[in-house]
Amino acid sequence: MTTYPHMLAPLDLGFTKLKNRVLMGSMHTGLEETKDWNRVAEFYATRARGGVGLMVTGGMAPNREGGVFPGAAGLFSDDDIANHRVVTERVHDAGGKIAMQILHAGRYAYSPDCVSASAVKSPISPFPPKALDAEGIKTQIADIVTAAVRAKEAGYDGVEIMGSEGYFLNQFLVTHVNKRDDEWGGSYENRMRLPVEVVRRVRKAVGAEFILIYRLSMIDLIPNGSTWAEVVQLAKAIEAAGATILNTGIGWHEARIPTIATSVPRRAFSWVTKKLMGEVSIPVITSNRINTPQVAEDVLAEGCADMVSMARPFLADPDFVAKAQAGQAAMIAPCIACNQACLDHTFNGKMSSCLVNPRACHETDLVLAPVSDAKTVAVVGAGPAGLSTALALVERGHKVSIFDKASEIGGQLNMAKQVPGKEEFWGLVDYYAAQIAAAGIDLRLGVVADVEALSGFDEVVIATGVAPRDTEIKGQDGPNVLSYIDVLRGNAKVGPRVAIIGAGGIGFDVAEYLVTDDSTTDDLQAWLEEWGVADPADARGGIRPEGPKPDAPVREVTLLQRKAQKLGKNLGKTTGWIHRAALQMKNVKMIGGVNYECIDAEGLHVTYGEGRENPTLIAVDTVVLCAGQVPERSLADALIAAGRSPHVIGGADVAAELDAKRAIEQGTRLAATI
Ligand code: NAP
Ligand code: SF4
Repeated sequence: MTTYPHMLAPLDLGFTKLKNRVLMGSMHTGLEETKDWNRVAEFYATRARGGVGLMVTGGMAPNREGGVFPGAAGLFSDDDIANHRVVTERVHDAGGKIAMQILHAGRYAYSPDCVSASAVKSPISPFPPKALDAEGIKTQIADIVTAAVRAKEAGYDGVEIMGSEGYFLNQFLVTHVNKRDDEWGGSYENRMRLPVEVVRRVRKAVGAEFILIYRLSMIDLIPNGSTWAEVVQLAKAIEAAGATILNTGIGWHEARIPTIATSVPRRAFSWVTKKLMGEVSIPVITSNRINTPQVAEDVLAEGCADMVSMARPFLADPDFVAKAQAGQAAMIAPCIACNQACLDHTFNGKMSSCLVNPRACHETDLVLAPVSDAKTVAVVGAGPAGLSTALALVERGHKVSIFDKASEIGGQLNMAKQVPGKEEFWGLVDYYAAQIAAAGIDLRLGVVADVEALSGFDEVVIATGVAPRDTEIKGQDGPNVLSYIDVLRGNAKVGPRVAIIGAGGIGFDVAEYLVTDDSTTDDLQAWLEEWGVADPADARGGIRPEGPKPDAPVREVTLLQRKAQKLGKNLGKTTGWIHRAALQMKNVKMIGGVNYECIDAEGLHVTYGEGRENPTLIAVDTVVLCAGQVPERSLADALIAAGRSPHVIGGADVAAELDAKRAIEQGTRLAATI
């Protein structure tokens, strides 16, 4: 008897059967644009071997104007069909099933040629769309149908038509983008004509025995979004038009409510999908912030959906389903919903990967091949850099010992997990603990490794991390000054009024920690209130008319930096706005362009600009230093002085812009070469 009977139950679609209730949701990885079809095929085949029931590819453009950006991949020619066949055959050989997503971006296309229902520019795009005329709409429909037919020719098991997240089809549904007065605009009946017609025409063209998933926006999270009655009306019409499965879309891309970030509670929107259960008779999939087998199982057991979609968790661990099936859930590398190596990369025009699994999308070039001559390797430092190195080395067959002077593994992850909204880091540390135990790694905690202790090892990896930077501010040794380490380790008493010196990732984290009493990430109702999310049956688009209702801040916090620019500018591309909005809701004052003159019993004295003008006292009880870090390399230097050649990685190598993503990737890549 499995622990996850609902998740692992097959789903019979009549003409075909899915082996379980897990869908790998669509992700734009950038792989298809490399045109390295072996690499694309290996990415999907790896996940097929990991047991997922059905996969959906990244969005493929049906035509040039519908591409998310100029040059976006699509099935435009016979060559494209042949290339995609490499992928589908490899997936089928691996025992998997795969559907191709057809994504028409409409006004979200990053192109001056973008089109939409009306010429209403999106707040997240510089390009106003051209309003399509009736002929133009017919052309778009025909192109989507052609893409579906080509997908079938390429051997896909089905298509997913992207109708949510504010893309083209979704744009026709809401009056704030659709200002038309012809048969494609006006009444809801008319506004939903396009998606329904697309599904009807695609079904007619591909025949009955082809999976047709329609991704439907169930809560738009934008002003003047759809009502729940409209969602249900559309779902029924889409079913009648021939869809096999309905997938859930949550929020438009321009929504100012987070929907997948790490601070969003797990399964935060499964209640929305549940409202549709019973309204249609085809299977319904739920989505967003489902990242463990237990969460997936609970969602299904509670009747929220017939199937769950997880996307990023399959970057973190391609074997998610197989491990769950084998009763090894603790061994699943968890997606911590950080977006750092996936969506942030995509939006920066880089290849996606995964913070916890740098091999994601690098299946063919980052290979941990078994070694013929196993070495003994000492890894000093049990933070993310050291742990990932150790595990990858063991996977290759080396014999590894880990040293850390701390009494627990995790390094800086142990601070991150204390930050409200970053609770997922607990799971990451637990995962490393489970992996290390299973691999039988010799773990020496509470041990200060020195040159002598390391003398017997063939290789030494130094992952000793970082030390806080000395700010050299007058008064920094005073009793009212703390480092972020004191604060996040809970070792220090912090007063009611606080100034934070340094507004990088850690400054923001410390601010969040100091203004928050109870994290809402563990309390869905509180989180929905905090961000102003309503039941779409009560408020259009699921936006509370009264707006967000955050808890009062528990401290008065001022966050400062010397640079005269917007604070948080260098935070994650897709998450920085959330951190800024969260602190603004807690009335955190953000001040840039300061000089730190001194700290005394009254607080922090600053001046402004190069002329050191406008001397100002920021009257606070506590000053917290979050001014960045420097490499901790004393052991590396001692080893080099003793004639050894240690491998130095992570913060011990370069402290600037260090994060877990770089640390883990560097460690894994090093391990691939030893
Ligand atoms: P950081 O991002 O480099 O920020 C350091 C801050 O200290 C900056 O605001 C900098 O601004 C200030 N600073 C630098 N030198 C200073 C000095 N001598 N005196 C006073 N202030 C000084 O470093 P961090 O915040 O420690 O974060 C470390 C790494 O962890 C970063 O790469 C960060 O991205 C990562 N991290 C990421 C997240 C995340 O959410 N993704 C969260 C936590 C940490 P000015 O020079 O303008 O004063
Ligand atoms: Fe998840 Fe972060 Fe990996 Fe993206 S980078 S898949 S959000 S853990």
